[in-house]
This record gives sequence, structure tokens and C-alpha cells, in this order.
Amino acid sequence: NRIRVIGFFMAGASFGAYASISVVLWLGGKQVLAGDLSTGELTSFILYTLIVAFSLSTLGGLWADFMRAVGAGDRVFELMDRISEIPNRGGQQIPVVRGSIEFSDVAFSYPTRPEIRVLDSVNLALSPGEVIALVGPSGGGKSTVAALMSRLYDPTSGLITIDGHDMRKLDPTWLREQVGVVAQEPILFSASVASNIRYGNPTATDDEVLNAANIANAHSFIEGFPDGYETLVGERGIQLSGGQKQRVAIARAVLKDPSLLVLDEATSALDTESEYLVQQALERLMQGRTTLIIAHRLSTVKQADRVVVIDAGKIVEQGTHLQLLEKGGLYGRLVERQLVGVSSLP
Ligand code: ADP
Repeated sequence: NRIRVIGFFMAGASFGAYASISVVLWLGGKQVLAGDLSTGELTSFILYTLIVAFSLSTLGGLWADFMRAVGAGDRVFELMDRISEIPNRGGQQIPVVRGSIEFSDVAFSYPTRPEIRVLDSVNLALSPGEVIALVGPSGGGKSTVAALMSRLYDPTSGLITIDGHDMRKLDPTWLREQVGVVAQEPILFSASVASNIRYGNPTATDDEVLNAANIANAHSFIEGFPDGYETLVGERGIQLSGGQKQRVAIARAVLKDPSLLVLDEATSALDTESEYLVQQALERLMQGRTTLIIAHRLSTVKQADRVVVIDAGKIVEQGTHLQLLEKGGLYGRLVERQLVGVSSLP
């Protein structure tokens, strides 16, 4: 339909343009013959008309560009003016965080799909320093539990507390300083390796950055780069492998030194050496911190203090690896498939 309209418009416009040229030539020709107008005057009139016509058509193009820019600007301002449901600032801060966290009867639906209940009466308590492995079929709600831990969303009903304080009463910016996240696909900025690590704590000294990289098993590969810690990563710089990105993200978390950790284990197979180095770095990072791992590897699950199995938004089993194996429920079936099916067995 749009094409038909454009077709008619173009045809009409060209017809109009050529028709007016013909009329000008015909009338002008008659006047020249009658001696009222010189040939030069007619020619310059036609030339001027053409110049004006061309300028007008360029102006039309400019106008279209301008309108497009206004449209894009609108969208940017819309995003800038958006008020998030969870404010960035304001609320309590706990002076010393011990690191216990508890979900009481938490139900949750994403705001974009309120009719679908993603979590349903989840009760889960992590004591300070405890390491919990969250396992379950994909789509079960593991990442959602992780997102609620750093208060990316508020529960639809129920309560989440940290050291007994309602999470909604705590200062969100402060809270996010207490929760370290190592994602499956860590996001690195197009900047130097050092500034990517320093993102965990902008005031850290060079020595502290180096120390964190050492703990994260990242120091030796960073040293191998042409500009060491000043090497640019990302689109304009060096491309890091999956394992290297994760180790940079771990160094970031070490520097941040949070009391709560959320780890999302990579599902994609890393090469054996990389996997070992990442695993070792994670173990060092978890020392003394309350940790929730979205686990895909059997080796990780075996080392956790407790395994929590979540399916279709509900906690269906929990206990140690051996206890759950004996029970022979969903966990037993997941282990048979080695949790993700590609994982390497220790
Ligand atoms: P898991 O991590 O166990 O694979 P998720 O927590 O990612 O599971 O997803 C649980 C359910 O929530 C899925 O049905 C998924 O489609 C839905 N979901 C996940 N993220 C969003 C989102 N941002 N908006 C709406 N629905 C989502």
C-alpha cells in the first residue's frame, strides 16, 4: 500500500514537473517570437528555476534527516527520563554485613509478563559463608533467584532479608556494593584490562589491582599481552577468550570484596586448563563469602555445602550431593545427564 502511494506520488510529481517545464517553454517561446522577451532572459529564467528546484529537493532530504534525528532524540530522552521502580539511593545501610540471606515465601512474576508466575513460594536460607549450588532444568527460575539477590527486581509477594533486614528498606546502591556477581558471559568495557578490573573498586591502587589479578589467575595471561595491564580489550583492542573474560570478572569481584556472591557458571565448555584455572580462582573468591552458584558442573555441585534443586519456580529438593543422590529424585536424573550434558566429569 505504502509502495502504491509512493508510486502515485512520484508519478504525479514528475508529471507536474515536466508539465510545468513544457508550459514555461511554450509560453516563453511564444513571447520570444513576439519579441517581448529575449532568448537570454528565457534561458536564465529556466536555469534559475532549475537551481531553486534542486535546492528545494535537497531541503526535503534534509528535513527527512532532521525528523529522523528528532525521533531518535525522543527515544533517548524517553530512556533518560525513565524512573526505575527501584530507586538508586535512599534507605538503610548495615554497618557490618555478616552475610546471611533469606527468602521467605517469595513469589515472583516479571513485570513484562505478570500472568506467568516464575517463582512460587520459595523458601531458602543461606547462613554466612555458606556455599549453595542451585541446579535444575533450564527455565526453572535459577537466574531469577540470582537477580532477586541483587535486587534487580522486588518479589511480587514474600520477603527477602539480609542479616534480618528487609531488602526493600536497604539502600540499593549500597546493597549492590555488597553483592558480587560473576556472570556467565561477563561484560568487559572497551578500555584497558586494568580499568576493567578496577571497575570492582574505582579507588583501588595498582598494587591492589595486581593482587586481585593474581588471586583470579589472570596475572600471567595479562602480563603476556603487549601492553600488559594497559592493553585495550574489546572491539578496538585484544579479544579475550571466554575463560580469560571470566578471570577478569573474578579479579573485579575480588577487588570489590563483597560479603555475598552470585556466580553463574559458564555452560560453554572451556578448555581443560582454562576450566581448572577458573575453578581455582572461583574457589579462592568464595572463601568466607555467602555464595549462590548457578551450577552446571558436577565438580562444583559436589563441593557445595548444600544443593538446592529448583524446577518450574519451586524448590523441589535440597541437601548435600550424596543425600540427594540416594533419594533418587530429580537431582538423581540430572546427575545422570551430568547436569548439562556437556560437562566434564572429574
Ligand atoms: P533458569 O535460569 O533456571 O534457566 P530463568 O530464571 O532464566 O530460568 O527463567 C525462568 C522463567 O522466567 C522462564 O520461563 C523465562 O522464560 C522467564 N523469564 C526469564 N527472564 C525473563 C524476563 N526478563 N522477562 C520475562 N520473563 C522472563
